[in-house]
Amino acid sequence: MDTIALEDSYGRVATDLRVSLTDRCNLRCSYCMPAEGLDWLPGDEVLTDDEVVRLIDIGVRRLGVREVRFTGGEPLVRRGLIDIVRRTKAIDSSVQVSLTTNALGLERTAGALAEAGLDRVNVSLDTVRGETFHTITRRDRFDDVVAGLAAAKAAGLTPVKINAVLLRGTNDDQAPELLRWAVAQGYDLRFIEQMPLDAQHDWSRTEMVTAEEIFASLAQEFTLTPTAEPRGSAPAELFDVDGGPATVGVIASVTRPFCGDCDRVRLTADGQVRNCLFAREESDLRGALRSGASDAEIADRWVVAMRGKRAGHGIDDPSFLQPDRPMSAIGG
Ligand code: SAM
Repeated sequence: MDTIALEDSYGRVATDLRVSLTDRCNLRCSYCMPAEGLDWLPGDEVLTDDEVVRLIDIGVRRLGVREVRFTGGEPLVRRGLIDIVRRTKAIDSSVQVSLTTNALGLERTAGALAEAGLDRVNVSLDTVRGETFHTITRRDRFDDVVAGLAAAKAAGLTPVKINAVLLRGTNDDQAPELLRWAVAQGYDLRFIEQMPLDAQHDWSRTEMVTAEEIFASLAQEFTLTPTAEPRGSAPAELFDVDGGPATVGVIASVTRPFCGDCDRVRLTADGQVRNCLFAREESDLRGALRSGASDAEIADRWVVAMRGKRAGHGIDDPSFLQPDRPMSAIGG
């Protein structure tokens, strides 16, 4: 079968597919959703396991997808996750399969996920202080995350990466201690600038902690030098920590956008293709699936959806409008 590239009108080719398996989450991170949660998608709107696997199969075998990352919401709350991972890896074992997770429950499932073919995990952890964790996530589960991280490492889901968001007045003074801890544990830490994707629309350009501030804070304790390897399409700028081998990354989506190198495409839990995290339009693959479209027809629809990808997310543009869906419903 010939492969059609998911190429946009600027020549960028998407090979990295982010698949949201649910919009539900068991944490309530203040920069993501309100304390009371959100109106979750009705069950019948969420793709079934078979539908998810079919779309991934189309992505991999017809459209050149080389990496599949499961996310959400919280993907570990999806009952069929282990089976979905196993079936994804069975499509093509050379496709990299990873998970972005808050690690609640990972202590229990890491072994089975690795056995099913999961290659690695990205765990979200914004602090190594239990009380700050509670303030940010509104849940008292810090020890579970630490246990989940250890289980991921023991299961060989490596390199184990940690994603951290700094919030002004909450944990913006904790970057060095987070890095010190991550290096000691053997985890690869990446700081992500806070983006305008919260359900409450509280994000503010002047309040967010910038990459510049993160570098300044880390420089108080560490010497950072750009790593030798080229960045390619990776969102993180990587630095050796005190000469290496440990590294730290900064994903400066807002202040140093990397849209020109973007190779990502997203599938929401209800089967909508989004060509950008900040896209304002989606293409309905679930409708096509459920109305009996063939794999070739679905692939064509997906290709068309990618063509309209904008050159950049435009956060700094005065006409920028936050997408209707928050991060948790898109898939981070
Ligand atoms: N529940 C999983 C987790 O915790 O990793 C996956 C979904 S979560 C939405 C994915 C990532 O998005 C997390 O690392 C989280 O910190 C990040 N995130 C959520 N809202 C964000 C925002 N407004 N700006 C930047 N990152 C955000």
